[in-house]
Amino acid sequence: MKWKKQILTLKAYQPGRTTDEVKKAYGLQDVVKLASNENPFGSSERVAKSIREYAESFAIYPDGYTTSLRNELASFLNVSEKQLIFGNGSDEIILMLSRAMLEPGKNTVMPTPSFPQYRHNAIVEGAEIREVELVNGAHDLDKMAQAIDENTAIVWLCSPNNPTGVHITDVQLRGFLDRVSEGVLVVLDEAYYEYVTASDYYDALEIIKEYKNVIVLRTFSKVYGLAAFRVGYGIADESLIAQLDPVREPFNVNSVGQVAAAAALSDQSFIEQCRTANKEGLEQFYAFCRENNLAFHPSEANFILIDFNCDSNELFEYLMSKGYIVRSGAALGIPGTVRVTVGSKEQNEGVIEAMKSFLAETVKR
Ligand SMILES: *Cc1c(COP(=O)(O)O)cnc(C)c1O
Repeated sequence: MKWKKQILTLKAYQPGRTTDEVKKAYGLQDVVKLASNENPFGSSERVAKSIREYAESFAIYPDGYTTSLRNELASFLNVSEKQLIFGNGSDEIILMLSRAMLEPGKNTVMPTPSFPQYRHNAIVEGAEIREVELVNGAHDLDKMAQAIDENTAIVWLCSPNNPTGVHITDVQLRGFLDRVSEGVLVVLDEAYYEYVTASDYYDALEIIKEYKNVIVLRTFSKVYGLAAFRVGYGIADESLIAQLDPVREPFNVNSVGQVAAAAALSDQSFIEQCRTANKEGLEQFYAFCRENNLAFHPSEANFILIDFNCDSNELFEYLMSKGYIVRSGAALGIPGTVRVTVGSKEQNEGVIEAMKSFLAETVKR
């Protein structure tokens, strides 16, 4: 069969271990997953209510224009409805953008380590990938600007960056965008936007007004706690969205997800509580790191990358045996580290206890 050559060696996405798998493997009663940056507090009560009250027939296709959620979100963000595009998770918007722009002969510039789907989709489309190493967990925007040439179609920025938690500041972003020609699309992936509290953070909605070649990606999967429903969105200038929309699959956002996302959006006090709890949770990890002389990047997201300067897979396995699933830095391209999602206060205490006993046992050996 005539597969694209690059597909033959491409590996499918490897999801992390599930709590059920780990319970079975280690004979544990309770297992906490702090691996995928999901919201430890679930989602707003309004979501469950909206689903209980959901009365549409399952035989009917979803609203292909996502009308109700689109209207709510446009008014919440104070943008035009035509400035929004919805995806089956923001993952799907990454796919749409890649599909619309990337092909052999074009290139795409991205930070590394960062969110793996930028690279994955570029491979599928056969575009040249130009990866620029992070410096101290942050984008090297100067090098990224230098990597752009006349064949560059897309530049990916991730702020706060997954897996380091480091954000791009307003000054840095504008300085970078001023160097990028209008003919190059800049994707600003803000999956963790709602967690950000830094005062030097940019205003993405101002940015898209000033720079018509920027699309901002956000999601209902993280702080909104709706990862199961797969709803993400892009915000950009109307003309950019109009050009991208034909690439979108019909009915790409499922009906229940549309209802759940609108209900979640309406409860901003839940989001605020989660943001506050997350900041407090991060402080627990910062204190642990300082006490144990472990390097970390202060995080603007709901996860923290901690450098244990050890075999990350060994630490990963050890924490799993204690009932905590984290992400091994080896899998993320930063050996020696683990990335931990900030959980509830108790979950954080638990995983920190387990990390402490790992450190104590490693010293003994
Ligand atoms: C989780 C995540 C996404 C994908 O989110 P979905 O909307 O669930 O597809 C995109 N970008 C980054 C950086 C993420 O961490």
